[in-house]
Amino acid sequence: MTKRLMDFAESAALLLRYGIQAEGRQVYSITDAMSTADALGYPVVLKPVSEKIVHKSDEGVVFLNIKNAMQLQKACTIIEEKINGFSKGNKQGILVQGMAEKGFELLIGAKQDPGFGPVTMIGIGGIFVELYADAAMGIGILSTMDVERMLTKTQAGRVLEGFRGQRYDREEIIELAVNISRLMAENPDICELDLNPVIVYDKGCAIVDARLIRDENIVKPMAEDIKQWKLASIDAIFNAKSVAVIGASRPGTQGGVILKNCMKISNLYPVHPKLDKIHGLTCYPSLKDLPEVPEVAVFAVSSEKTVRIFEDFCKIGGKGAIIFSDGFAEMGRYDLEQKLVEISERYKVAFIGPNCMGVIDTFTGLNTNYIPEQRSVPVAKPNCVGVISQSGGIGLELLEMFSADNQNLGKWVSIGNAASVGVPELLAHMGDDPKIKIIAIYLEGVADGLKLMKIGREVAKRKPVLIIKGGTGGGAEAALSHTASLAGSHEAFKACCEQAGFYLVEELTEDPKIMVNVLSILTSQPKTANDRIAVISVGGGAGILLADQVTEEGMSLAEFSPETRKRMKALIEKNLKPEQRRHRATILRNVGNNPIDLFGNCDDERLLESIRIIDKDPNTDVIVAAIYLQVPLLSEYLPERLVELKGELTKPLIISPRGFSDYVDRCRAYMADKKLHTYTVPMMKPLSIAIEIWKKYGHSFLE
Ligand code: ADP
Ligand code: MG
Repeated sequence: MTKRLMDFAESAALLLRYGIQAEGRQVYSITDAMSTADALGYPVVLKPVSEKIVHKSDEGVVFLNIKNAMQLQKACTIIEEKINGFSKGNKQGILVQGMAEKGFELLIGAKQDPGFGPVTMIGIGGIFVELYADAAMGIGILSTMDVERMLTKTQAGRVLEGFRGQRYDREEIIELAVNISRLMAENPDICELDLNPVIVYDKGCAIVDARLIRDENIVKPMAEDIKQWKLASIDAIFNAKSVAVIGASRPGTQGGVILKNCMKISNLYPVHPKLDKIHGLTCYPSLKDLPEVPEVAVFAVSSEKTVRIFEDFCKIGGKGAIIFSDGFAEMGRYDLEQKLVEISERYKVAFIGPNCMGVIDTFTGLNTNYIPEQRSVPVAKPNCVGVISQSGGIGLELLEMFSADNQNLGKWVSIGNAASVGVPELLAHMGDDPKIKIIAIYLEGVADGLKLMKIGREVAKRKPVLIIKGGTGGGAEAALSHTASLAGSHEAFKACCEQAGFYLVEELTEDPKIMVNVLSILTSQPKTANDRIAVISVGGGAGILLADQVTEEGMSLAEFSPETRKRMKALIEKNLKPEQRRHRATILRNVGNNPIDLFGNCDDERLLESIRIIDKDPNTDVIVAAIYLQVPLLSEYLPERLVELKGELTKPLIISPRGFSDYVDRCRAYMADKKLHTYTVPMMKPLSIAIEIWKKYGHSFLE
């Protein structure tokens, strides 16, 4: 065990170097406790100082409101017993504090995260910290603004702002959190820190419990910069003019499929020791037999062979490699992976992989995916979406989901073991590529969090970066501090997303369609400036469910203008049958409210006309229409007419065709094919993310 709870005196001294005053004095005898109490003035508080007692209240040894020497003596005796005697040498003693007045109890904590370094946390404090679990994190040395942002994420922040009318010294707390983040950054051996509680008053605060834990073994993560030569290799891969496929073989083999998927590359060289020709291409026994030095090599051979031939490739002047081959770190062969890295660093030639599905570049035709097209989906024509996936399988699923929604993509990378090129490098590459306007990432572990955050911050200023994060569950760490138990690695990752400006699509673990729908909305709809949603439905229930989701996702329901209401009433009234006219007032009473129910006897004209009316409404930003295409008065031509109507509209139109019959599926497929965005599962989350993105970047992403 290298972790050690520091005693009060040591902790207080370190805190003081950062201008932070912890309450109390550490003493080692009842006499000293008594004289300290006299000096402070009663009432006082007594608690043990001992490495053995971490959560003092749990052990019943926090003595509050000690009023006189007799009470003090009694408390000291109990403490002495509990910690088996006082000893200055062993730092076993008593902490004597003044009794702080009541105020609001906050927790300010920090820990060293293995991927991100110092993470500082703020939230509601006291003895029920874990129960409230009210905490927001920030990574690195925080600015005042960072802490302000963290406070907006917590209940504690609302209390400090005066939720119940009291005033609290918010500025003092913000400064305290900033100083703690500095302390953590400058003292990487402090692995956990808890100030709990910090009692806040209208002026100032009292820190009555400071718990610092030191770990001599901690390794500080470095925010190393991205290496230029790696970016040069990635550039070479994505502009490949000549590609050698090492291990290209007959159809049905992995190398054979990769070769077939790369046939669009003009200078494509299969390398195989025995074969003469594959897929009509001349085969070469080795790299040195090729008519030119290939810029890029794709490896689909055993791990030992890969290492050997990769070195040859570097020697002859190759620029970048994709290592599909497996049998490296994922199989326990760290030695072989290390060799690859050494060769790569020596020759300054970076590689993607090993153990990856590599790259699909729809601009050049490079496609090292080893899945045969006939088992998956054809690679579509290029668009502005870049995908980086830490998992080949999820990468493949995203690819197929895109295709099912008739969406394209520009660049797709499966990074595998990411021994040489990881997410930060690829993010930097796609960030610099003007053809890529949106970046979607599937991420599991974050080994180089600081690097990711540093580059991500730059990229996210220019284009949206959406992240799906896997591995968010997992057991809580056994922790000495409250902070460590609340600030798990996923919380740190959330803070990274906040600070870098990434969009974290958390729900994807449940429904991968969220990410795909966000991309589909962005690339098929004009931008909007705001989030006022009009919900139109044929069949009221679906409209009500959608309207609920609109508000649940933090968007608002449009309040139609008087003119729009008038036009809607007129439209419905025009369609009333003679026998309905008697109930005119009742029928029309709710018409013009949002959500709009067009009734089960709705026909094409009524639906199309109401969409036109809402498109002109000055208080609406987006139109969502829930339609039962099954109802008899809607015609078979409605999907076609909706597609045509979309061309006239100025606002995004999202159709939610309700139901699951073959007929509905056919209509949905038709509309998706015509880039009229439909929701398979109607949900509003993707729309709310898309609107946030339009608001932040201020432009459309239409293809
Ligand atoms: P632990 O967290 O180890 O259980 P604390 O020192 O935080 O022990 O004490 C528990 C609770 O007692 C605090 O949350 C606070 O409400 C109260 N308390 C502790 N010290 C003082 C003090 N000096 N003045 C007033 N209240 C205190
Ligand atoms: Mg405490």
